Amino acid sequence: MLRITEIKLPLITSAEAGHSDAEIRTALIKKLAINAADIVSFSIFKRGVDARKSHAILFVYSLDVVVNGEAKLLAKLVKDPHVKPTPDTQYQFVATATPPSQPSPSKGEGAKFAQSLPSHSQGESQGGGLTHRPVIVGFGPAGIFAALILAQAGFKPIVLERGKAVRERTKDTFNFWRKSELSPESNVQFGEGGAGTFSDGKLWSQIKDPKHYGRKVLQEFVAAGAPPEIMYVSHPHIGTFRLVGMVEAMRKTIESLGGEIRFGCRVDDIEIEQNQVQAVILNSGERIATKHLVLAVGHSARDTFEMIHRNNIYIEAKPFSIGFRIEHPQSLIDKARYGNSYSEDLLSKLGSAEYKLVHHASNGRSVYSFCMCPGGTVVAAASEAGRVVTNGMSQYSRNERNANAGIVVGITPEVDYPDNPLAGMQLQRDLESTAYVLGGSNYAAPAQLIGDFLANKPSTQFGEVLPSYTPGVHLSNLNTALPEFAISAIREAIPAFAKQIKGYDLADGLLTGVETRTSAPIRIKRNDDTLESINTKGLYPCGEGAGYAGGILSAGVDGIRVAEMVSLNLSKV
Ligand SMILES: Cc1cc2nc3c(=O)[nH]c(=O)nc-3n(C[C@H](O)[C@H](O)[C@H](O)COP(=O)(O)OP(=O)(O)OC[C@H]3O[C@@H](n4cnc5c(N)ncnc54)[C@H](O)[C@@H]3O)c2cc1C
Repeated sequence: MLRITEIKLPLITSAEAGHSDAEIRTALIKKLAINAADIVSFSIFKRGVDARKSHAILFVYSLDVVVNGEAKLLAKLVKDPHVKPTPDTQYQFVATATPPSQPSPSKGEGAKFAQSLPSHSQGESQGGGLTHRPVIVGFGPAGIFAALILAQAGFKPIVLERGKAVRERTKDTFNFWRKSELSPESNVQFGEGGAGTFSDGKLWSQIKDPKHYGRKVLQEFVAAGAPPEIMYVSHPHIGTFRLVGMVEAMRKTIESLGGEIRFGCRVDDIEIEQNQVQAVILNSGERIATKHLVLAVGHSARDTFEMIHRNNIYIEAKPFSIGFRIEHPQSLIDKARYGNSYSEDLLSKLGSAEYKLVHHASNGRSVYSFCMCPGGTVVAAASEAGRVVTNGMSQYSRNERNANAGIVVGITPEVDYPDNPLAGMQLQRDLESTAYVLGGSNYAAPAQLIGDFLANKPSTQFGEVLPSYTPGVHLSNLNTALPEFAISAIREAIPAFAKQIKGYDLADGLLTGVETRTSAPIRIKRNDDTLESINTKGLYPCGEGAGYAGGILSAGVDGIRVAEMVSLNLSKV
């Protein structure tokens, strides 16, 4: 098969989404200078948009093509950098379980673990043997992919998730959004699917991925019900409704392979002897023995971070960002982004416009847009009582009235907080508590019109932009909601962003606060080769909470990487 890159086709097409097969086939025939009959089949590997010239927007395709006489054609086009053999991106397992001839655990050890295993696991004889059944804490994207790979490799993982199954969790989350009733163990951050379940489901990442793990993540998502186009569009997204069903489908797959997923199971302690993990203790008091523990707890597991620190598992403070959510009319962003080409037809083909902005402020801070959600809503994302935190989400259609994005300022441990690995987490808590009070102490979020924020005067009434945040906002002055350096950097950035997106400084635009959970405030440091904690054997920090991912896709990829290391170790047992 050949991969043909940089096939550019103008966006003048009758097809609803992208170009028709006939249009692409014609372009291929022209590019390769072959007969139509010699194209056996083709598929789209990637499709990007080149919108640098707003009057001449292009789709840029990478295509995988099966042709008659491939070797001859390749030889003829050997100097063309855009015609190459298609690389093999198929996922390969690094190790698989060997049931039922798995070596049995050593006598004493086996007896000890058999005794301490919960009754539902008694009698388990496959999946790496009784002693070595891997345990995964957290069922967000990192935990899901760690579990899926281990299950597919035959290692029958046990997953412990503090929150509820996704349907019940959805009810609890909507209860918070509608009635301000927060459930601390079942919310936007905690429960089946993890933090990204109620999200835009954006699926791109800038991580290096030489082994194509990202494709494995996307393939599994499609198998679980994601739209197939996520495999090739340059900025794929799923939207929140589909995510719920997908997460359930993936759970069922893991279970069908012998994995076990237990909800309402919060890991409250980890037993470590001679620097080796021995067991986890649940909130119920139950003890589950394991020598292979994947910690995929996400960026909001603050009590778990404290427990990890208490157990002397090495953690360090990590940079993250703080700021607000900003809302504009989506039409303002569309018109600014698509310029003269803007039309309803173009919108129907390209979808609501996105943006990504950065400003280096004069006080040395960087301000950037974060997790932009076209046609979406601002989300109440608290997981702790008496605290307010924002985030954003969209449905697949992205057709709500407002565009929203985090507008956040980078902070670093060396400069911004004392020599304590948990100080960043404390800063997050303090800012979220302040926001709760500014919002009226009932989970409404404090909000301010952009014009008033820039003029440093409290807002008293809404203008053209109405807030999408539920359970509602309370107009106030956000200039006191963040440290001064962050406020001054954001005040400088908004007019600077307006030079790139006309109207970004719209006086009636809305800021809602606070955005603090942009990533984990700590890193559970791990060994680069084995991916184990640097001072605790058998403990595999994984995903965003461990400081090794920053989104759904990268968390899934990290889950795969960690699962491979666990598989390799289990296969040696
Ligand atoms: C509203 C919102 C919108 C977002 N939108 C996007 C987006 O569009 N695209 C994108 O790429 N990213 C998005 N993100 C970020 C993304 O969700 C995270 O980067 C990703 O979920 C991290 O995956 P993870 O598996 O590492 O952690 P998480 O998804 O946070 O999962 C961790 C899981 O561990 C569980 N847990 C924690 N502590 C314990 C414990 N002690 N015992 C048992 N279980 C525990 C939690 O309940 C949780 O389910 C969004 C996040 C939010 C909140």
